[in-house]
Amino acid sequence: MQSSNTLVEHDSFRDHLGIVTDGGKRKVVYPKKPAGKFYNARTIFSLALLAFLFGMPLIKVDGHPFMMLNIVDRKFIIFGQLFGTHDFFILALSFITLIVSIILFTAVFGRVFCGWACPQTVFLEMVFRKIEFFIEGDYIRQKNLNAAPWSGSKILKKLSKWTIFFLLSVLIANTFLAWVIGTDQLYKIITEPIALHKGGFIAMMLFSGAFYFIFAWFREYSCIYVCPYGRLQGVLLDKNSTVIAYDYVRGEPRGKIKRGEVRTEGDCIDCKECMAVCPTAIDIRNGTQLECVNCTACIDACDNIMEKIDKPKGLIRFASENNIKNRTKFKITARVIAYSSVLVILLTVLTVLISSRKPIDVTILRAPGMIFQEQPDNKISNLYTMKLTNKTFHDELITLRLENTEGELKVIGNDIKLPSGDVSETKFLVLLAKDQMKQMNIPLEIGVYKNGSKFETARINFLGPIQQKQ
Ligand code: SF4
Ligand code: SF4
Repeated sequence: MQSSNTLVEHDSFRDHLGIVTDGGKRKVVYPKKPAGKFYNARTIFSLALLAFLFGMPLIKVDGHPFMMLNIVDRKFIIFGQLFGTHDFFILALSFITLIVSIILFTAVFGRVFCGWACPQTVFLEMVFRKIEFFIEGDYIRQKNLNAAPWSGSKILKKLSKWTIFFLLSVLIANTFLAWVIGTDQLYKIITEPIALHKGGFIAMMLFSGAFYFIFAWFREYSCIYVCPYGRLQGVLLDKNSTVIAYDYVRGEPRGKIKRGEVRTEGDCIDCKECMAVCPTAIDIRNGTQLECVNCTACIDACDNIMEKIDKPKGLIRFASENNIKNRTKFKITARVIAYSSVLVILLTVLTVLISSRKPIDVTILRAPGMIFQEQPDNKISNLYTMKLTNKTFHDELITLRLENTEGELKVIGNDIKLPSGDVSETKFLVLLAKDQMKQMNIPLEIGVYKNGSKFETARINFLGPIQQKQ
């Protein structure tokens, strides 16, 4: 995205990573503690996200979780509503809608999700890094501490940090499990003997270890090497996408500020404060790069400098390449219109599907291969198959009644018991007297009752030979 006429000091950023030494080893990043209005806003937003993440699994409605995403058993509770494999279309469509919204959001606002809402960044920058700053001090102190020989104070600082990191990782792993299996099951794993919940206990330990590894050591590597979303930026962004951008038109040629000298350079005083705060060790003045997680720390850093040298803020700001280069305002492009249209269609279909969703689904079909059967006592019978899907949290006892005509309805087998979240299949016979067959096809209404109260009237057809008048 960097313009060809932009002055850059070197091109090495194109084939070098700021987090790797020339010898190919890891270069530990010590970002300076950010300060400014964006950092404050991010802190508040992160607190809200953390409250949601840690609080939601604790909320119950009628004894059931308000939110639960049990991928293992394919059971999902979203805002108190139970979804299962029977809601495949809704779940698949929700997933597609989420992907399209991310694409649309990225095309318009760039990678702002990464810096502000991604759990990896929220935990790393707003929890673990803050603890690190608190225990070890700002970036220079951290660097010096790591370079210093082991001493009582260094051991104390490191041990306290690692212990807190590990405890936090256990807490995050437990919260993650609570989202998947619910707090009741989690409580059992924690309080009952390990032998009863070996799988759950191993999962908890593995997740704790994984979170500790990611937040204590792996850190920015997750965003740069692992996250597929970061790699998609190249295809999702265009020159109209809003990203964190350095205004090279205003900033270049960069040059140190000299006291008493009339400045002929651009507004960038090459203080490198924007680089010092960057958690992925890049220089945003080189243009949009894969490593930029849109955390806005460099905006705050540069704004603070601009304030000190009495220049307008926003040398680094949310802007598109076209905005920087041509000074054009935000434009709704054909691509944004196309993505938005697809999103509106998907959301409409999803809303219709969710609003027409019934607590218990009833499907009655004629048993295959049979039209009617002659029965004793001058009767005709038809055999039907009924599929019931219980999308509620309660087990139900289902009964059927023939509602609109004289006749008999016989359920084959036992009572129809329908456990919560389950699908059951039942066969039943309808018997009518032959002399009721005034036509070949008689419409029937079957009342479907749960625990004695009717919740659906199913309409089916009864077939039989027309009886001639004597
Ligand atoms: S913080 Fe601003 S002035 Fe300093 S180097 Fe970065 S862009 Fe230039
Ligand atoms: S370049 Fe700026 S916005 Fe991007 S990761 Fe670095 S500090 Fe954050």
